[in-house]
Amino acid sequence: NNIILKVDSIKKYFPVKTGGFGRPHKWLKAVDGVSFEVSKDRVFAIVGESGCGKSTIARLVLRLLPLTDGRIYFKGEDVSHLSGDSLKKFRRSVQIVFQDPFASLNPRMRIIDTLSEPFKIHKIVPKQDIKDRVVSLLEKVGLNSDALNRYPHEFSGGQRQRICIARALTVSPELIVADEPLSALDVSIQAQILNLLQNIKRESAISLVFISHDLKVVHYLSDEVAVMYLGKIVEKAKTEDLFESPRHPYTELLLSSAPTIGVRHKAPSNMHRATDFRVSPHMDFVDIPSPIDIPSGCPFHPRCAKRFDVCDKVIPELKDIDSRLVACHLY
Ligand code: SF4
Ligand code: MG
Repeated sequence: NNIILKVDSIKKYFPVKTGGFGRPHKWLKAVDGVSFEVSKDRVFAIVGESGCGKSTIARLVLRLLPLTDGRIYFKGEDVSHLSGDSLKKFRRSVQIVFQDPFASLNPRMRIIDTLSEPFKIHKIVPKQDIKDRVVSLLEKVGLNSDALNRYPHEFSGGQRQRICIARALTVSPELIVADEPLSALDVSIQAQILNLLQNIKRESAISLVFISHDLKVVHYLSDEVAVMYLGKIVEKAKTEDLFESPRHPYTELLLSSAPTIGVRHKAPSNMHRATDFRVSPHMDFVDIPSPIDIPSGCPFHPRCAKRFDVCDKVIPELKDIDSRLVACHLY
């Protein structure tokens, strides 16, 4: 079996207080029935604007959040409700790299201690060999033994993200979930980290779930892409197919407004940080609806230039159209 991760109709609803004692609360449907499979040694990308539920999926897959509904299988085993030792074992096989490399490193720990910790917890390497392993990991991510006795604040953002990637690699995971690993970094550094991820993928048999708002990055790295909108997948296709001929109007919108990476240009300073990226289509002043008040029918209809009469009434199902999945009444 070639499927390393299978996500089956997962849901995550968060209760939202609506004010007023005793009133029923509303639900924020952060992830609302999402399914996908990740093959061994492949990169599966999840793309969408902030608030579409992509980070929640990362946390659900890592078992950092409980599911509201649905199932997650890792190498055929149902991991949806693991606990204790089996959860610990699962956590060795799946690692996460977060968006903000500073927040995810302990500022009071030297790099050697941060990178030794997983070896100690999982007892994978004899004590006397740990330091050598840490140095070879540092080299793998483009750093060296000079880093060992330093603290996170002594490094740049890009170097810190390299350290986080090294930490994810300590336990030789089979799957890495990278949640916007580039978006807190300067544009000039993003391409370097992207190349690093690409190299690691090439050298070791690791599967990657790569979460991003940036379709350009996804194009470069991924084999398959799922486009999400308000908690649901609206299109899923092989990367080449998606870029060659996007089907869903939202995918078209994302493509038309995709920022470029790796291009040296002078951008206003706020362009360098894309942590709260939102597409602002020309001619369109409609805000992204909140996942608490999801529009009727097709949730994209208030922003869709191609909408027609049924769009605000009937929810489009995700359908198989020429070996890709699309949720839109046009198809
Ligand atoms: Fe646009 Fe209608 Fe398709 Fe939704 S279903 S994306 S509103 S055309
Ligand atoms: Mg996010």
